[in-house]
Amino acid sequence: MGFLDELSEGIANTTRDIGKMAQNAGDMTKLQYDKKVKESELLKLYEKLGRKYYEEHKDEESEEIKEITAVHLRLKEISDEIMSLKGGKACPKCGALVKSGSKFCSACGEKIDDIFEE
Ligand SMILES: [Zn+2]
Repeated sequence: MGFLDELSEGIANTTRDIGKMAQNAGDMTKLQYDKKVKESELLKLYEKLGRKYYEEHKDEESEEIKEITAVHLRLKEISDEIMSLKGGKACPKCGALVKSGSKFCSACGEKIDDIFEE
């Protein structure tokens, strides 16, 4: 085989190797992406199942149920504090800020009767 033949075969092999490496890298990127997507899907499914389970068992005395209920209550307190600092309360229907003394929620139109009476 002549020098030029060897050279062109070498170039062809190198090109093929680079192509294969690029394909492997592409496959790896795709697999890693698919893995992240599936992991995130799994978390969402667990979350959905957890919410469903909680709704069906929230009167039970288990440690996990009590922990979630406690976090819900604290979250409500924090939200109320935030709304209070903003000068109002949360709309009972949509949760938007309703300024003190308002008759209706400006976000959803809910009639506000009693949230400011205390
Ligand atoms: Zn509202």
